[in-house]
Amino acid sequence: MQIILLLFSFLLMSATPAGSLINTADAPTVVIDVGHGGTDRGAKAGNPYCEEKRITLLTARLVKQYLEQLGYHVVMTRSTDNFISLPRRVEIAKQAQGNIFVSVHYNSSRSPEAKGIEVFFFDSKENKNRANASKKLADSILSRLIRKTDANSRGVKKGNFYVIRETSMPAVLVEGGFISNPKERALLKSRDYQEKIAQGIADGIDGYFKARWRKAR
Ligand SMILES: [Zn+2]
Repeated sequence: MQIILLLFSFLLMSATPAGSLINTADAPTVVIDVGHGGTDRGAKAGNPYCEEKRITLLTARLVKQYLEQLGYHVVMTRSTDNFISLPRRVEIAKQAQGNIFVSVHYNSSRSPEAKGIEVFFFDSKENKNRANASKKLADSILSRLIRKTDANSRGVKKGNFYVIRETSMPAVLVEGGFISNPKERALLKSRDYQEKIAQGIADGIDGYFKARWRKAR
């Protein structure tokens, strides 16, 4: 019985990355950057009242949970409602030696009709490899997000946001929906929809790494 158990755990340990669970020994580290926090509330709107800093944390906690279930190491730039400066967020990613960086945000527009999801990457001219990898990560996350949520796709876009520009690993910034759109805001506040968004982000990250491993073999 013990031998069977040993053999079974050996098989689990040596499972290839293409399996459902990744080998924890060399599991990638994913840095989830939780947008805003503390005095920086981010986008906000009333009826129902909603603050960006609160739903980014909700989403990030769920993404962390799903990624850990798949075997990834996850580091969040904040796990409570506190203010973290942009340079500090980049520093946390560096210290964690993150393999990728995913910043979670929600959108706002003067037009209440604006809706949907968009994902940004920094198109670095100096580091084309990082730009290409970031674009692939953005594509993977957006396609999974749209599949899970059925939201309007606003596409993958080039962006010059501090955290995706100044980090050194492949990095994206997800704008998961519009707080300024009453319909979308109501969805964003629901647990059911939050789970869909978080699953989409986690699946997109997992799909990105699996595609890389397939290519490497
Ligand atoms: Zn934001």
